[in-house]
Amino acid sequence: MLDKKTLEEFKQKLLDEKKQLENELAQLANKEGEGEYEAKYEDYGRTEEDNAEEVETYTANISITETLEKNLKDVNDALERMKNGKYGICEKCGKKEIRIERLKAYPAARSCIVCAEKK
Ligand SMILES: [Zn+2]
Repeated sequence: MLDKKTLEEFKQKLLDEKKQLENELAQLANKEGEGEYEAKYEDYGRTEEDNAEEVETYTANISITETLEKNLKDVNDALERMKNGKYGICEKCGKKEIRIERLKAYPAARSCIVCAEKK
């Protein structure tokens, strides 16, 4: 099991990541609700070129927003598991503990390496 000190370190890492993700999202998207974002549509101007650029930026924003949103959800879920005392236990098999090296590299990891590689 993870000791209290290690858990606290991971919690801090997750909270930092959450803040960073929320900052990045705030630049690209409007917040629609808790953990829900809608990509911003920026108005550059009226010419055809402006419009083409608007659509291009918007399309890129949507895909970045989706990725960030997913990462944010992973982080929020990890924090939730921490509250429930389930942090570090694989979500897929429910038995194996996620190796600490894996959590260090990615504190929001949901599954053990065996389950992650199955996918
Ligand atoms: Zn597993």
